[in-house]
Amino acid sequence: MKRLVILGSTGSIGLQALEVVEALPGEFQVVGLASGGAREDLFAAQLERWRPSVAALTLPDAARRAARAVGREVLPGPEGLETAASWPEADLVLNAVVGFAGLSPTLAAIAAGKDVAMANKEALVAAGPLVTASARAKGVTLLPVDSEPSAVYQLMVGRSWSELDRIVLTASGGPFYGRTPADLETVTPEEALHHPTWRMGPKITVDSATLMNKGFEVIEASRLFEVPVERIEVLVHRQSLIHSMVVLTDGVVLAHVGPPDMRYPIQYALTHPRRPPAPWPRLELGTAPALTLARPDPGAFPCLRLAYEAGRAGGSLPAVLSAADEVLVEAFLGGRIGFLDIPRGLERVLSGHRAFEITALEDARRADAEGREAARAFLA
Ligand code: NAD
Ligand code: MG
Repeated sequence: MKRLVILGSTGSIGLQALEVVEALPGEFQVVGLASGGAREDLFAAQLERWRPSVAALTLPDAARRAARAVGREVLPGPEGLETAASWPEADLVLNAVVGFAGLSPTLAAIAAGKDVAMANKEALVAAGPLVTASARAKGVTLLPVDSEPSAVYQLMVGRSWSELDRIVLTASGGPFYGRTPADLETVTPEEALHHPTWRMGPKITVDSATLMNKGFEVIEASRLFEVPVERIEVLVHRQSLIHSMVVLTDGVVLAHVGPPDMRYPIQYALTHPRRPPAPWPRLELGTAPALTLARPDPGAFPCLRLAYEAGRAGGSLPAVLSAADEVLVEAFLGGRIGFLDIPRGLERVLSGHRAFEITALEDARRADAEGREAARAFLA
């Protein structure tokens, strides 16, 4: 039995991970659960169901209330999350926290020698080289959970990276595919939250509408696989059945195909290096729709270009981009700015930033704080 800690257990990925655990009896023991605190009743119910040996909620009030409700210890604050991430009993930590808050528990898990299944892309965007170097130094495995990097990872298993010419990440195109910049000026948060193929948390859903999510995945894949961003291409694939492709040195293209169901990549990351049968609905190839591929429109979706620029420059820029995006997405969801103010604000924040190297968690924290502050200045 693999002993598992799930960070972000009340979110979209966390809940689907618990479905995977439930569906594969005898594979896992849940030894730790942690979350932010917004859905404390759900978290309390999870504690009763799974009875983990460690539990943590970042919001101290929520931790106190959940502890009282279930009559057990619930560790408060970001330190609680780090304690859960480095829990001695754990073999594998699934990091499904959203945002920069996922970085310190990632480093804590690695420092404690735990393998980490990474859904939290913001940590890899903000401090990818630091995370991968720490993992290498500790000899721990980082397994991607995000469907596109998971697809690339699976395609490259048993293959030498010297055979890789380039990576092609697929993008659904989001709810606003085909719109002009003029159309996008007036779209609402409700429209942005209506993703055509995936059901996800609100932040990543808005990032999917701006294509910032795909931009983050370019940086995420570049850091995880140590491939320069110039060798990572993005193509819009509306059906979300091809989860990504690799082009090999002889020009042969390998594609990873399956239903748009996150339980597949979650199950792969949790059961790696095994591949037990999956109970999830399968793709009926004979009745699958025609598969299309197209280049993204750089005029309507400038976030993609900004991510390439930040990813190429490296240092603190990706962390600043990611932090500013968290602030601007929240402002958009709160109705305080328009959809296109997200790329406008990001452009302003990046151009005003004086870059520095990120060699420790403190550097990433400084970049994150500067990105947030610059985004708030833009909002004001
Ligand atoms: P979500 O909003 O549904 O859930 C987020 C989880 O993080 C919740 O459990 C919440 O309590 C927790 N959290 C939030 N702030 C926290 C904090 N400060 N400290 C501790 N916990 C905190 O988000 P999601 O859609 O599940 O996404 C989680 C991560 O996975 C994101 O980085 C996202 O980009 C990535 N991801 C998600 C999907 C998907 O299908 N949902 C796909 C690929 C990648
Ligand atoms: Mg993805």
